[in-house]
Amino acid sequence: MGYVLKAKKPNDPLLIVGNGLTANEKKLIRQYLEALRKLNLEVDDPDVIRRIMAEVLAGNPLSAANQVPWSGFTQSLAPIVTTMATQVAISANLNLTKLPSKIKYEAVFNLTDPRAIGWAQVRAGSTIRQVNEYSRQAVSKIIQDGLRSKLDPDQVQAAIKRVVGLDSRQATALENFYKKTIEDGTLKGLSYQSAVARAESLGVTYRNRLWSQRAERIARTELAEAANQGRFMSWMEADAQGLIPPNSKKRWMTAPDERTCPICRGMDGEIVDWEKDFSMGKLMPTAHPNCRCTAVLIPGEPSAVIEEKIPPTGEYEGYKLNQPRNATSSDRGQADVAANNLRDSARVSEPKITRDVIDLSKQHGGDMVGLEYRIKTQSSLAEKIQTTARDNATNVAVESRNMKDVIRYTMVKPEAGYVDMTNSVVRDLRSQGYKVTVINNWKPGSPYLGVNAQVISPTGQMFELQFHTPKSLVSKTKTHDLYKSIRNTRDPIIIDRIDKEMVEIAKSVPFPKGDVGTLGDPMPKIQK
Ligand SMILES: [Zn+2]
Repeated sequence: MGYVLKAKKPNDPLLIVGNGLTANEKKLIRQYLEALRKLNLEVDDPDVIRRIMAEVLAGNPLSAANQVPWSGFTQSLAPIVTTMATQVAISANLNLTKLPSKIKYEAVFNLTDPRAIGWAQVRAGSTIRQVNEYSRQAVSKIIQDGLRSKLDPDQVQAAIKRVVGLDSRQATALENFYKKTIEDGTLKGLSYQSAVARAESLGVTYRNRLWSQRAERIARTELAEAANQGRFMSWMEADAQGLIPPNSKKRWMTAPDERTCPICRGMDGEIVDWEKDFSMGKLMPTAHPNCRCTAVLIPGEPSAVIEEKIPPTGEYEGYKLNQPRNATSSDRGQADVAANNLRDSARVSEPKITRDVIDLSKQHGGDMVGLEYRIKTQSSLAEKIQTTARDNATNVAVESRNMKDVIRYTMVKPEAGYVDMTNSVVRDLRSQGYKVTVINNWKPGSPYLGVNAQVISPTGQMFELQFHTPKSLVSKTKTHDLYKSIRNTRDPIIIDRIDKEMVEIAKSVPFPKGDVGTLGDPMPKIQK
């Protein structure tokens, strides 16, 4: 229960699911924390502190807060522009690969794209101004509080140093924590001085946590915003090529997990013209800090009149003469037929296989995830056959024979019982006459983690069975979408970055408990 991938929604590379951080988010967090550390050191400068305290003593909290070297802070935040621009470009490219085939085209946004950079400069500029402003307000508020409660100048000075870089809410939380920790200390019998020393040291830990929280919130929000901007840019680019059909719409999509916030739940599914604002007043998500929503394009349907002119299949040749089609669309016709055939024959053995797999997962404490998608849809199957035939320079007939995952299952178990479950299920399948070939991908540094079993049923039906931990499953969806995006990208910089990002995502996945080396123990010599 509760695994994030019970989603009833299509996977979307821009939809950030779960708690993991992307490589770009980590980078932006790092950049922000570096700027904070620098700001903190600058406030320690005797000249700076003298200027601040002169205003404090004159009773001017606002001017005192203005003496903090915010311009240096602004400068040291400058690198986030590049990170955000990168996100725009990566997202635009990813999205191009996601567009329906009739819209797809070959443009590539590179990482120095002036549109991406331009947007990132403006957006980062206003973000930095806001971060500055909130931080300045926090300092000024803490000084006001200090003056009001008649703290001595040393105490005010210490408080300023503590809260610089936090927002007002965080600064107040930290000051409350600080006071409470001193009180607790003296109640426990510590001398006032020891209680203060203790509060100072615990306060630093707490402050660091608040810094990280603020950094993470900014990184998540800004990069989600950048990702959506990239997506919208790719639509505009496609539109400039005349590829976006009239009447195209876009649909708001929230991340399908427990982190979906109440604000966005109300927006989920809203459909508007693709060039118009959503009802919350923006062209694209995000809606609020930490928002992980995105929007997808719904291409407009050709008008009914044109539809009626397309003759039924029997007269297809005639239509072709009037409207020359390229080889790809005739491949698609064959691929559609092949996909239907594959699905029809899969349905014969599927019910029994599904029952067997479910039984085994129950028996060994696994969770079946995405069971409703166990048979690939006609369109995704046809598309896969068509694109692999194109990529491998073969043909539809060859590739449809090679489709191993027309039926596929995913079994999930947390790290603790994972190794046992996987080995037991494989063993039991074999004893029931299934031929199982296990590909164990639990290798450190691999972008794909998990076990992937190719299985042939006693009736000869091939299927795929994946074994995941909840975290490797989340990582798989993310890296899979990234992987697909490389296929249509030729820019080596993007390929390299996406590659690194995939490995980075996978790195955060904890390995199962026990000996992963035993997973998929060698196949028995005698196989049925
Ligand atoms: Zn949202």
